[in-house]
Amino acid sequence: TQPKPRQPELKTSLPGPKSAAIIERDKQHLSTSYMRPYPFVPDHGEGVWLTDADGNTMLDFFAGIAVTTTGHAHPHVVKAVQDAVGKFTHVCLTDYPQEITTSLAERMLKHVEKPGEKWRVFFGNSGAEAVEAAVKLARNHTGRSHVISTMGSFHGRTYGAITLTGSKTKYKRGFGPLLPAVSHVPYPNPFRPPLGSTPETCGQAVIDHIENLFVGVIPADEVAAIIVEPMQGEGGYIVPPADFLPKLRQLCDKHGIMLIFDEVQAGMGRTGKMFSFQHFDVQPDMITVAKGIASGLPISCLLAKESVMTWPVGSHGSTFGGNPVAAAAAHATLDLLEGQVKHDGCGDSLFDNAAAVGEYIMGELKKMQADYPFLGDVRGRGLFIGMEFVKPDGSPDGGLRDRASYRMFEKGLLNLDCGEAVIRISPPLILTREEAATGLKIMREVLEELR
Ligand code: PMP
Repeated sequence: TQPKPRQPELKTSLPGPKSAAIIERDKQHLSTSYMRPYPFVPDHGEGVWLTDADGNTMLDFFAGIAVTTTGHAHPHVVKAVQDAVGKFTHVCLTDYPQEITTSLAERMLKHVEKPGEKWRVFFGNSGAEAVEAAVKLARNHTGRSHVISTMGSFHGRTYGAITLTGSKTKYKRGFGPLLPAVSHVPYPNPFRPPLGSTPETCGQAVIDHIENLFVGVIPADEVAAIIVEPMQGEGGYIVPPADFLPKLRQLCDKHGIMLIFDEVQAGMGRTGKMFSFQHFDVQPDMITVAKGIASGLPISCLLAKESVMTWPVGSHGSTFGGNPVAAAAAHATLDLLEGQVKHDGCGDSLFDNAAAVGEYIMGELKKMQADYPFLGDVRGRGLFIGMEFVKPDGSPDGGLRDRASYRMFEKGLLNLDCGEAVIRISPPLILTREEAATGLKIMREVLEELR
């Protein structure tokens, strides 16, 4: 059976009176560090639909920033959480093992281990924590201190993570001093190739740049790790050229450097495979995972080769990390992703659905790109898709992007920007082709208005 077709339903102009009152109270009491591009106050959700306090229903192409893998209030996830919460809500994984987290670790490892290559898991609560753990482990394991990250990257907002982050100076301004011994290199963006390269050569150009740094700027034998998003998220939903990550692997091997893939945004099936790096012929030493792992409950993990996870027992830990209720939600999410539990209208697994519906959306957006020259680039894999707005001279047009994004919102399509001039499409992975078509229709209407 297919889910019944629905359309966005706007009962009041946004924000309606109830939402407006909540926004007002919120402004008075919450930290100002939030970015609220749209006056929207979600009250409840179902699948790919979110309804606000005034009864307006929006189509969700944002999924809580690529988090709600199985959509909102998926019955299988809700049941798993209800069952788990009735047993206990916390014991503390640093002291006592619990079957639900042990089996979650086993399930996660199945997605990375290769014959003869054993991995291990550390559980935390957020993406930033997984990143912090990765840097600590890399330093501890190698006895080296320097970490290389990429420009345009986002790794979180704790001290280590903001230091590694290479996008938007506002994340760092006024917060220093940051972590010492961190450098940034360009990300190989085929649409805007760095270092005077071309779309084809940008991967090699970044590798050469790092090798040059090793000659005169950073001693390679002081570099503990290189951390990179295999597909860059906040920086603009960018897919690197196919040779980049394998060449980065070779470079790391040559110099004894740990290769960390930050899969917080692109991982957990979003690109049509469990991890976005699995589209390339490469294996890292560590992987950070969060966001989509538990459909919205807070849990994250650092996966690392057993040969690398050599920090002494008890040297790193977390009170809440690997919480049993969040772990239950992660199991339920994996059931749907892997296809042990089927979601109506989504084929054999959510991996397959993300790949198929993503391909359909990309195809339709490419048609729009041909019709609207200000849509300069459409890129991505699966349901990790970016559309970049450009000025006639080809430079990024953030203003036009903002107008497009807001008009889509006003027409009932929740979406989110990233990079300088990109709208990201990161819906729940249960999005059907019909629901995708509803969103695409709104997008085309908006692009037509902006012409
Ligand atoms: N890494 C990446 C690639 C991310 O996209 C994010 C969040 N946008 C983070 C790390 C940080 O995750 P969190 O907000 O859960 O700390």
